[in-house]
Amino acid sequence: MKTEAEIQQVSKTGTKQAEEYVHKVFNQVKDVYGHESEFLQAVEEVFESLIPVFSKEQKYQDQAILERIAEPERIISFRVPWVDDKHQIQVNRGYRVQFNSAIGPYKGGLRFHPSVNQSIIKFLGFEQIFKNSLTGQPIGGGKGGSDFDPKGKSDQEIMRFCQSFMTELMKHIGPDTDVPAGDIGVGAREIGFMFGQYKRLRGAYEAGVLTGKNPVSGGSLGRKEATGYGTVYFVDEMIRDKGMSFDGSQVVVSGSGNVSIYAMEKAMELGGKVVACSDSQGYIVDYNGICLDTVKQLKEVEYKRIKEYTHHHPDAHYFEDGEGIWSVPCDIALPCATQNELDELGAKILVANGVKAVGEGANMPSTKAAVDIFQQNNVLFAPGKAANAGGVAVSALEMAQNSMRLSWTLEEVDEKLKDIMKDIFESAKSEAANYGHDDNLVIGANIAGFKKVADTMISQGVI
Ligand code: NDP
Repeated sequence: MKTEAEIQQVSKTGTKQAEEYVHKVFNQVKDVYGHESEFLQAVEEVFESLIPVFSKEQKYQDQAILERIAEPERIISFRVPWVDDKHQIQVNRGYRVQFNSAIGPYKGGLRFHPSVNQSIIKFLGFEQIFKNSLTGQPIGGGKGGSDFDPKGKSDQEIMRFCQSFMTELMKHIGPDTDVPAGDIGVGAREIGFMFGQYKRLRGAYEAGVLTGKNPVSGGSLGRKEATGYGTVYFVDEMIRDKGMSFDGSQVVVSGSGNVSIYAMEKAMELGGKVVACSDSQGYIVDYNGICLDTVKQLKEVEYKRIKEYTHHHPDAHYFEDGEGIWSVPCDIALPCATQNELDELGAKILVANGVKAVGEGANMPSTKAAVDIFQQNNVLFAPGKAANAGGVAVSALEMAQNSMRLSWTLEEVDEKLKDIMKDIFESAKSEAANYGHDDNLVIGANIAGFKKVADTMISQGVI
């Protein structure tokens, strides 16, 4: 039998060798894609957290899993021409990254935002591989979108853009190949226009080709709420595990879009007091508690700026600069807007003001430096990959309902969502513990998501 010292020596050697492997592959990715900063940020975070796995298990290195998993199976980029209301021809760029189909058809949202480029779509698609795996559903990872800006466009312009976008995209998607959904700038309205065009071009009613549809076109009840509710269910599991709860907590939620609105709604239902939310231009603080009806009216119905909230609630305050929202004292912070919206400074201010838990509703909203600050200060931290997986999980439930041609009630969907979020929390927590990183849900979620995909890739041969 080996002595304790010998065992420790073997484990140190394994860790060093694993670190070398991970850094070697990361540098290869960087050499090729050095200009894709968001993609590299996501790859580095996942790779670093997998070192404990590689130091224990050799098979993933032998099978070149990291080399393969960081390279998308396919990237489609295309021209999207459309005609605006002034009869002028406009041209945008469209993308679909089909990243990994080991465990199921590619699945992931479409983002319409002027900042969209290949790096952003690749980072989102890469994250989606592990997130989708964590849900326990048979869905691979993909993502797409366009640099089209829906803000200020008429419904007709949005429809013409969506039809042109789908005219190309339809050649590459299908209920068993690739199933897009919504993301920033893409809600039920845009999904409806795209579904209509897909149906017309295909000449068949394939409801399962898109999720996030309006329930009248086969959408799942509860999909609109799923990401926000799921984030709060996950955070609730995480904080209750440490004897805390939403009840009586002060909560700050960034953004005021789909994820943010339903995260606020569920946090309030669980007894939290939400005092601030934002959009890309500024944030509002309402110490009476944010009035969600006003936010919904402004954002879901009138498509207006969050600053208008103060016209309805004169006691509330509006501040320019969305990132300042992290200076509002809170027990629980839920970044639900966009990537890298919460940086090191924001994290330090949150910690100084006594934040106890942070849960990411958005994708990669916290920079690496911000996550380090939270972990060094024992702030409970729920990474987006796990915490915001409720949206795609309910999308998978939508696919199941479409293929069975039936629809579940809101209560049934919500119960399933709650169970899925609990399972994700438990698997992230237990994998973190298995690899000696108790309560580190970043490591736990990445490992849990990775192993299922990697083992499946191995079983399918070198493809
Ligand atoms: P929406 O377009 O509905 O809302 C986005 C919100 O974020 C808006 O309030 C927007 O403000 C705000 N925002 C955008 N950029 C910034 C910025 N730089 N600073 C501050 N606020 C900003 O998108 P979603 O709610 O659907 O998506 C939000 C996040 O959640 C994204 O990271 C997305 O990838 C992620 N996500 C979404 C899922 C879904 O089901 N929808 C699933 C999983 C993750 P403005 O209106 O001014 O642009």
